Amino acid sequence: MMQIEPSTRLRSVVGDKTAKVLESAFGLTVVDDLLRHYPRRYADIGQLTDLSDLMVGQHVTIMARVVSAKNYAFRNQPRKTRTEVVVTDGTGRLTLTFFQQAWRLKTLTENTVGLFAGEVGEYRGTLQLTHPDFEPVDGSGEISADSRLGRGIIPIYPATAKLASWRIEQSVALCLDGLASLDDPVPADVRAQRGLSDVRTALEEIHRPRAKEQWQRARDRFRFEEAFVLQAVFAQRRHALERDPATARPALAGGLRERFAERLPFVLTEGQKEIADVIGSDLERTHPMHRLLQGEVGSGKTVVALLAMLQVVDAGGQAALLAPTEVLASQHHRAITSLLGDLAQGGMLGGADGATRVQLLTGSLGAKTRNEALLDAASGEAGIVVGTHALIQEHVQFADLGLLVVDEQHRFGVEQRSALVDRSDVKPHVLVMTATPIPRTVAMTVFGDLETSTLRELPAGRKPIQTTVVPAAERPAWMDRAWERVREEVDGGKQAYVVVSRIGVADESEDKETRSLLDVHAELTAGPLSGLRIGMLHGRLPADEKDATMNAFAAGEFDVLVATTVVEVGVDVPNATVMVVMDADRFGVSQLHQLRGRVGRGSAPGLCLLVTSSDPDAPARERLDAVAASTDGFELSRLDVELRHEGDVLGARQSGVRSSLRLLSVVRHEDVITDARDAALEVVAADPSLDHHPALAAAVRALEETEQADYLERT
Ligand code: ADP
Ligand code: MG
Repeated sequence: MMQIEPSTRLRSVVGDKTAKVLESAFGLTVVDDLLRHYPRRYADIGQLTDLSDLMVGQHVTIMARVVSAKNYAFRNQPRKTRTEVVVTDGTGRLTLTFFQQAWRLKTLTENTVGLFAGEVGEYRGTLQLTHPDFEPVDGSGEISADSRLGRGIIPIYPATAKLASWRIEQSVALCLDGLASLDDPVPADVRAQRGLSDVRTALEEIHRPRAKEQWQRARDRFRFEEAFVLQAVFAQRRHALERDPATARPALAGGLRERFAERLPFVLTEGQKEIADVIGSDLERTHPMHRLLQGEVGSGKTVVALLAMLQVVDAGGQAALLAPTEVLASQHHRAITSLLGDLAQGGMLGGADGATRVQLLTGSLGAKTRNEALLDAASGEAGIVVGTHALIQEHVQFADLGLLVVDEQHRFGVEQRSALVDRSDVKPHVLVMTATPIPRTVAMTVFGDLETSTLRELPAGRKPIQTTVVPAAERPAWMDRAWERVREEVDGGKQAYVVVSRIGVADESEDKETRSLLDVHAELTAGPLSGLRIGMLHGRLPADEKDATMNAFAAGEFDVLVATTVVEVGVDVPNATVMVVMDADRFGVSQLHQLRGRVGRGSAPGLCLLVTSSDPDAPARERLDAVAASTDGFELSRLDVELRHEGDVLGARQSGVRSSLRLLSVVRHEDVITDARDAALEVVAADPSLDHHPALAAAVRALEETEQADYLERT
């Protein structure tokens, strides 16, 4: 028998035809891929089929006994036949249909027991399988102890119409039988402490279990392995950072940071002070800071970041602030410039002593402004550069980049961060911020290489936002009342957002059930909000127009801004007090929480109206009620995690990580993740380069390569 290695191409083990399907359907190319294609579930012989549970469109594998089989001829086409086989599993009956396969009667005789797989269809009101794949169960009725039936448990694999579950099972068996010895990525002592089985045993037990306990034990082991390898990646990254040199950026007495702190128009919250101090001392170290600052919407992260940036400037370095959208970048630029006042007018008339310069760098700047910004960044004139992706893409040169701040981190990938960081010989300190509070497990899984700080409190004097669900279809009067409320706020000198889920320009992909920006704008202008000054903002506007609109709104030149979710992230107009979200059911829980964070940022209370036409009993309504009932972003994010699919939680950007997690759920396996993290830290601390753990080193490399490959595909 040939020696099979994990890296052996599947083609040479299972044959070209099967290998092709395995690759096209599941992306499996080598033996290890297939061995990690775990059964989706397991069926006990005897309770395999639940014919009563079948649903149209399902790919099913059932075990059943033939009750009757009969050929029918077509009336005017004597050479064509239809074979109808009725099978039962005791709980129900199902018809199998074959065309032009009259010979089936020979194998599918009465009382034959077999496995059938196919897609459940419907014909004249009865469920059926057409041309199901069929495997007879031992014809003699004898069940050998070695056969799958003898084991009593049948693994059910994720399968397709082209490749039934048991064909996959056969392929797996070929791999397992010929498999050479395997190195275990989980070290023996780590396994022993936790009573986890070794990789060989676990593979055997997950694919060919003889008892429920076996596959359960095997799953536990592989679940741990997934968490462990991922945590080892993070542990190594952290360890590497600990050894990377960075320039210390100590605080300067009487410097910009101090002078700025003194003139702040408000008192910092305890949380802000504490985290600003922590970051301050991180910056004094000679190793790069790598910190995640998460904070409730409106908790004032920008000021904390600004204090850090000024400390770096005081120490002779520069800071870059990376924002996900142009709107947000220019808002940050505006806010920072105005907060700093003459401290930001370096080299200008009226600039304070030792003042610096704050430059904006986005893709849409005119050539002149951009060159100026580029020049200031390269010469070091600009202590702070605020920008969008353009900062990464345009190979901006910094004289001495000391700190990179990434705002709204969830919009960026790990690799985009490193694109900027790796450019300099000496790594800058990195602070990433997110206003989407993430549960601990997700933080450990996605940002496992970062230290985290959390801002929980809001600045004093903030009135909580009141949120109300407006069921427009059931209660049209409430809708009228909503627009009245908007009018009242505007009459009181305040401003309002109306958020819509789509723009409404000709675009086939748009969801026509919902109200578009253009429609809503037109209706409001003609109807309930006529006479008010209504602006429009969406992602497809040219950048300068977006900016002009946002500026005008901030300056109070519009009363109402009808916008898409471009206002979701970070936009700060304290005078805005009401937000009406149209088709609110189209948004996620955390997204709604983000959106409503745009109002009530000043001293006046905020009001958020979630308009929906969804069914009162629909899950969507439940989500909206949850958002209305809680203003705690952390609680809502936990709910979000429970409601959404794993992949959405980790984010499309983290697809490399996601595809490596087959059994591990960031939602359900917090204890496994914590345990694996401790284990990985210990192993990496003792053997940082994993020289003594070659199998783990290989698994870590493989995971990093997937992540890398994902990134390359995206760019
Ligand atoms: P986020 O954390 O959501 O990014 P921002 O940094 O945009 O929040 O801050 C929201 C608003 O609160 C800004 O207008 C900011 O100037 C203001 N702010 C920040 N810290 C305080 C504070 N301690 N007291 C009062 N207002 C504050
Ligand atoms: Mg912000």
